[in-house]
Amino acid sequence: MLAARYWAPRDLRLENAETPVPEEGEVVIKVLASNICGTDLKSFLRGHPMMRPPMTMGHEFCGVVSEVGEGVKKFKTGERVVASNSSPCGTCTFCRQGAPTLCERIPGRLIGFSIPGSYAQYVKIPRHIVSENAYSVKTSVPPEEMACSEPLAAAIHALDRVKLERGLRVVLIGSGALGLMLLQLLKTREIHVTMTNRSEGRLRIAEKLGADEVLQVTDEDLVAKARGAGGPTGPDLVIEAVGKKETWEAAFRIVREGGQVLFFGGCAAGTEVSFDAGKMHYGEVTVTGSFHHEPSSFKRAITAIESGNVRVRPLLTHSVPLERIQDGFGLMERRDALKVTVTT
Ligand SMILES: [Zn+2]
Ligand SMILES: [Zn+2]
Repeated sequence: MLAARYWAPRDLRLENAETPVPEEGEVVIKVLASNICGTDLKSFLRGHPMMRPPMTMGHEFCGVVSEVGEGVKKFKTGERVVASNSSPCGTCTFCRQGAPTLCERIPGRLIGFSIPGSYAQYVKIPRHIVSENAYSVKTSVPPEEMACSEPLAAAIHALDRVKLERGLRVVLIGSGALGLMLLQLLKTREIHVTMTNRSEGRLRIAEKLGADEVLQVTDEDLVAKARGAGGPTGPDLVIEAVGKKETWEAAFRIVREGGQVLFFGGCAAGTEVSFDAGKMHYGEVTVTGSFHHEPSSFKRAITAIESGNVRVRPLLTHSVPLERIQDGFGLMERRDALKVTVTT
């Protein structure tokens, strides 16, 4: 089968790989659609600590079950499915502490990073994901939309980590695909959202998806402009969905005293940020990090897409066949695309 395998930064090769065969408890999926995300772009450009070449990338996918391994009762051949890229083990220290996103066993068996992913004609789903975090889905929703359940799950998990109530005033820094998913989730909770971005085009999409206010900003004027978005004292919650030192620091400066900051965008490894300890202490600011998702977030993401509560179609701006996946990464790198679908 054809697969796009990572060898080194910017060296993604279309190669003939062996078509996977399911072992006991496993399922092989014929990939219909697989979306490129920001993490894939970063991995393509500079590698990823979990990725040992050659590695088939791709972890946001939807397809059809092509073969089931012995003992699989949950799925049948021909069924439309989505599977998460991971599933917590349930037994490690973090899992037992109720923090499955930190599961010690996820890094070693993460689809598209440490085990072969979905930029291929077929992808194999390991047994623990088949049983805990794979689902049959409606065929009425296009596969590229269903493939958005993985990033949407991360957005759902992130919002589970902060205190949300109706009427809260939120500043969301970043209007990439995930920012626009967070926006829609916040709007279902009747929260006032101000989106900030450098690009006017992205902000127009944010408006269409329900943003109450949009601010076109630069790194220099972001803090001053966004501080005003929450009335005289500043916004109640600031969400950073970019993953840059400057915007992490800005998020803390923008939030009001007594407010919350949610750090959602991942910075490059080793990045250090600084903030005013006085504001943290005397201002009683709550700071929360968020990473990945758990099976319950993944299930809720599927429901949100199937019900239309979260519209992902406007985020899927481009599509390329697997043979032209390099072009897809180019579109992402030039920021011409919000999300690119790779079709097989
Ligand atoms: Zn992703
Ligand atoms: Zn675990």
